[in-house]
Amino acid sequence: MYDYHTHSSFSADSDEALETMLLRAISLGIKEYAVTDHCDPHYRNAEYDFELDLAAYAQELERLAAKYGAEIKTLKGIEIGIQHDVIEDRLAVIRAYPFDFVIGSFHCAEGFEIYAPEYANRPAEELYRGFYGYMLQCLKLYKDYDVLGHFNVIDRYAASIPADEVYRDLVEDIVRLLIADGKGIEINTSCFRYGMGERTTPTAEMLRLYARAGGEIMTVGSDAHRAADVGFMFDRAVHMAREAGMKYLATFENREVKFVKI
Ligand SMILES: [Zn+2]
Ligand SMILES: [Zn+2]
Repeated sequence: MYDYHTHSSFSADSDEALETMLLRAISLGIKEYAVTDHCDPHYRNAEYDFELDLAAYAQELERLAAKYGAEIKTLKGIEIGIQHDVIEDRLAVIRAYPFDFVIGSFHCAEGFEIYAPEYANRPAEELYRGFYGYMLQCLKLYKDYDVLGHFNVIDRYAASIPADEVYRDLVEDIVRLLIADGKGIEINTSCFRYGMGERTTPTAEMLRLYARAGGEIMTVGSDAHRAADVGFMFDRAVHMAREAGMKYLATFENREVKFVKI
């Protein structure tokens, strides 16, 4: 198993010690474990502080990677929140440390936290075209990431989900851009925990679009914020990937991609 999206108490929304997370990963026999704590400066909800204490984070990552090196490969990762107006901040954080792996995610869009009712409760068509249009514009500007995190995260918070046709052109443009830029996508298995039913993250259609357009870079991550969720439903994600036509699981080291056949 490979878990390429995990958090710890270095993230504002997790209380689990990094060592506890890692011990759980070892007990599950996980081969590679990417720690990807949040870095989301200028987060659009003042109640949350998603700045990352990079010095303390790096020190703990290196201590644990060395301590458990014989049992598990620990990747030094980060989940960057992308927004149009804070691109230089992102670049500065990433350049300040030799990360193995960077997830680029949208937790805010168009100046709002996407969970905020005043955003998520917009009419479905306006919300979806706005969200994916915003994502496309940002990804044309910001390139320092390896995989796009939870592509359709908006599904989790939207008051209602419109038909795919309403915004498919934007998704297709994003997929083409990702592939042209050499970027990957992830299967975020938290969708199986949230009880999204057939509405997986990404959707089966998004994954098929990516595979058919020649995309090959795909990671699988639990997005665990507590030890119990580490490695969650990895096998189901791999099954889903195969069904969509994906042939490999991507792994990273020093921001370089490698492929494992699935
Ligand atoms: Zn995220
Ligand atoms: Zn996350």
